[in-house]
Formats: sequence, structure tokens, C-alpha cells
Amino acid sequence: MATCRPARPVVQLLYIRYLANRPVEEIQCVAQTRRRHRCTSPLLTTKAQAGVWTLVPLATEPGQLPLAGAVLAVYSLTGLPYAEQLRWRAQRCPEHAAIPTAADVAVTEWELFDPLIHHEHIHTRLPTPTRRQAPADRGRNAAQP
Ligand SMILES: [Zn+2]
Repeated sequence: MATCRPARPVVQLLYIRYLANRPVEEIQCVAQTRRRHRCTSPLLTTKAQAGVWTLVPLATEPGQLPLAGAVLAVYSLTGLPYAEQLRWRAQRCPEHAAIPTAADVAVTEWELFDPLIHHEHIHTRLPTPTRRQAPADRGRNAAQP
């Protein structure tokens, strides 16, 4: 069964919702490597703390009350340390987050999420987990988030 995940997820960081332009696992560092190429490392590494998918009430206008029952699936980084959220917004891998002098070769791809403009990217259900393992293997991985 293929993973059902948004191609362009809504990511919440520093209390702002952004529309990413690729799946969370594929968001790539924008820093320049010493060989003058764009770094190919993802933001989400096995060592980095991951965000959590959560459903939040959806309001169509800032300050407006959410529509009754309307929810939005967001990948929330709110639980991460402030520095980690800054790293995500700067779109840098852990290695380049530690090297502020490394230049960026690409602009960050975050787009402010607007429910009216980006309504096609509103998902009202959480992404379903990947089910690549056989049922017998599931217990072993149950402890993973
Ligand atoms: Zn990098």
C-alpha cells in the first residue's frame, strides 16, 4: 500500500503555517556545499526531532472563528526547540545550520499558507502511515512515532 501523504503539506513552525512545495521528508537544504553545489541533505534526518501530524481547526480568515467542523491536517513543528524551528524556516540541514557562514544557493521554498488560495492543498485527514511491513513485523515497529 502506498503512503498517502500530501504532495504539498502545510507545515506549522514558529506559530505560522506555511505551504511546503514538496513532501516533508523531501524538503532539501538550501545551503551551498564547499564544492559549490546545493546541499542534498534533507531537513528531516534520523537524528533530528520530527514534527507531528495533527488536525487543527480551520479558519478561512485571520481572526475569524473556525468553520464548524472544518479541520486542516498540518505537520506541526511547534513542539520542537526554537532553534530547530528556526532551522526549518531557514531550510537548512543540521550540518549547515551549524555553519552560518555557508551561503544559500537557493531561496527557501516556504509559502505562507492561505486557505482561500491553497484550498486544493487542504487535507482534512491525517496522512495514513506506510504499511510496507508484513503484519508480523508491525509489533516491532510499534514504538516508533
Ligand atoms: Zn545542508
